[in-house]
Amino acid sequence: MTSIDWAKVRADFPILAQQVNGKPLLYLDNAASSQKPRAVISALVNYYERDNANVHRGLHELSSRATDAYEGARVKVAKYLGAASAEEIVFTRGTTEAINLVAQTWGARFVREGDVILLTEMEHHSNLVPWQMLAERTGARLRFVPVAEDGTLALERLGDLLTAEVKMFAFTHISNSLGTINPVAELCRAARAVGAVTLVDAAQSIGHLPVDVREMGCDFLAFSGHKMCAPTGSGALYGRAELLDAMPPWHGGGEMIVTVSYERSTYKKAPARFEAGTPNIAGAVGLGAAVDYIEGIGRATIFEHDLALTRHALARLGELPGVRVQGPRDRRGGLVGFTMDAAHPHDLTTFADQHGLALRGGHHCNMPLMKKLRLPGTTRASFYFYNTKVEVDRMADILAEAVRFFA
Ligand code: PLP
Repeated sequence: MTSIDWAKVRADFPILAQQVNGKPLLYLDNAASSQKPRAVISALVNYYERDNANVHRGLHELSSRATDAYEGARVKVAKYLGAASAEEIVFTRGTTEAINLVAQTWGARFVREGDVILLTEMEHHSNLVPWQMLAERTGARLRFVPVAEDGTLALERLGDLLTAEVKMFAFTHISNSLGTINPVAELCRAARAVGAVTLVDAAQSIGHLPVDVREMGCDFLAFSGHKMCAPTGSGALYGRAELLDAMPPWHGGGEMIVTVSYERSTYKKAPARFEAGTPNIAGAVGLGAAVDYIEGIGRATIFEHDLALTRHALARLGELPGVRVQGPRDRRGGLVGFTMDAAHPHDLTTFADQHGLALRGGHHCNMPLMKKLRLPGTTRASFYFYNTKVEVDRMADILAEAVRFFA
């Protein structure tokens, strides 16, 4: 494994060198959104200062540079995901839009009354609500793989739930509130055996560990750029080419058509078919720069680093009275959700902020899961490669002070 100068890496993130409420910023809200390195910020500035123009349609120098940058980013994302070709990458605003795209277009074509959409009890609202909307429109039914006591999926129930009526099995790679890492390849294999299509929500894994769609064997995968050092409003849907080309378009407009008459239109193949109108060109350029930046460190190295911080956090939180960590002890990603007997998550998060510590408190867009766990919510600390062990210790000290303060 290459040795990384983590202090040098951290210095790439200008936002981290500031005081908040009179204390050095301690940013542990990375599962909500990551910070951006200078390489990504410069790619945006460079694009706007030198190359900015509309893509595809222009027959002038700047337009062809912008097109090259936009399509070049698609190639980078395809390689990053291990996709068979760049045509399997549709740029979206992020995970939410990517899942809605599948629910609305694949769903409209392939889901009928009585069909089953299988989800898990740990899905983020963005991998739940679009399927509820599809079920309402079509008369399809939703089923859920339960979450067991230890925060993992109750896989022994899969045989009963994953029946021939299941048309779609959509699940998260890493739970954003429990930290659980799901056995994606195993779930995809089980779905394939009954002819179900799979969608992986990779929002929490995409910037944290190696993600390869062909190793996973998934049909669709959705992710957000802003959680992997890229700009907000960037992200993508991966879809197997034959599935994307069998799906009807969703947004109509420029760029997605072959011919248009007053009465009707014909549509391009994927990905253009799903990218109507002027896209987020700068966002895609920034996403491409983020891919280069993360690959420069290496995803396996990032995962190891995140994991070391998580283990340290689990040990330090374990020392605090009345603090209970949610989720499994092993096989977990770089985030820790916990409760503190003495304080509501919102009060604790506000207390932390007074010390310059950015945590997240609440239901984390997992309302049904919180209800099942009988929790008002949790407080979540989430780590990324620019965080340090010293920061985890500082977090633990602030939380120890909170235990005394709220007692
Ligand atoms: N899925 C998971 C597991 C998430 O953690 C999130 C965001 O926190 C999303 C989906 C939604 O991502 P976005 O809001 O970027 O579309």
